[in-house]
Amino acid sequence: MKNEQKPKRTPLIIIIPFRAAVAMGDGGDGGFDAIVASRRDDAGEAMRASRDLPPGTLLVRVAPFAAVPYPDEMRRSCHGCFRACGAERECGACGVARLCASCAGCETTKAYHAYECHALARLRDGERGLTLAHNDLRLLLRVLSVRRRHRDVVASSYATAASDAAAASGDVIVDDVDAFDALMSGVDGGDDGELPESSIAMLHEVAKQAKFLVAAEARASVDACVRTLGRLQLNGFEMTASASEEEEEGGRGGGGGCGGGGHRPIGVGVYPSAAMFNHDCAPNAAQRFDAFGCVRVETTRRVRKGEELTIPYVDVMLGREERRGKLRKNFAFECACARCEREAG
Ligand SMILES: [Zn+2]
Ligand SMILES: [Zn+2]
Ligand SMILES: [Zn+2]
Repeated sequence: MKNEQKPKRTPLIIIIPFRAAVAMGDGGDGGFDAIVASRRDDAGEAMRASRDLPPGTLLVRVAPFAAVPYPDEMRRSCHGCFRACGAERECGACGVARLCASCAGCETTKAYHAYECHALARLRDGERGLTLAHNDLRLLLRVLSVRRRHRDVVASSYATAASDAAAASGDVIVDDVDAFDALMSGVDGGDDGELPESSIAMLHEVAKQAKFLVAAEARASVDACVRTLGRLQLNGFEMTASASEEEEEGGRGGGGGCGGGGHRPIGVGVYPSAAMFNHDCAPNAAQRFDAFGCVRVETTRRVRKGEELTIPYVDVMLGREERRGKLRKNFAFECACARCEREAG
């Protein structure tokens, strides 16, 4: 029997309130049915294994709701799909962002770039005292663009050239604005912790800059921007390019193999359906980014049915105090995991 003959289902782009589907014990149409949501004793939400899972089980694959490359990466990668992209693909309007041929032909991708483009063009034209090296600011502008686009078009148009390309290699969840809004925020009193005063003060500064930089029709109140920035800070993922993707882009390379280092940070993004997993300093799952900027959350060891599925929000190779400090500062919580307890001595 030839295995090429196996009937192949066309991969899906799933645009549904995935969180709601998971709460009902249904991973949606995409076969992401290894997780089920439940309340924890401390009233938080937990994602649990719906059955015994072997290591390497794909739990979700999620396209970025909004993502921006880091400054170093801006002149190397497409702003739409994060794939390597030459200087000839610079956006004519701002002269900074690059958009590969397929992203440049995508109305949705262009709409997502709109506010950032306007701001980048103003900076190029000599506005003083401003810098878009500030990742939070660019991510906020991106979210405002996405929000506007989702207001104007039907859900079937949420997919971008990047998510279409990603879907060619497997199912992918495309989150909508409701999924983003459902992320708890430590700024407006969600069930999560509160960000420290100093962080909120900084978010206010960024929000004020955003208000000044974006086109008049896009202006959101400073308070609304601060709330959005808070959600971004508490739920953002640092995107990394794995060594194997670098090899694909740059020809040959040494190594290969799994688990090794070589994860270069390339940007920051928000993935609402991947932000449902809680942190643990000895997690049983981990996130990684594929060549399409999608995050894949996979089990890293065998997980029993009913066990909570957790991912690392910080580098778990760090020592106890360093981990806990980062979690406190960036994610506004005191880690109460078993490993932290054990290492308390
Ligand atoms: Zn692209
Ligand atoms: Zn532009
Ligand atoms: Zn911990």
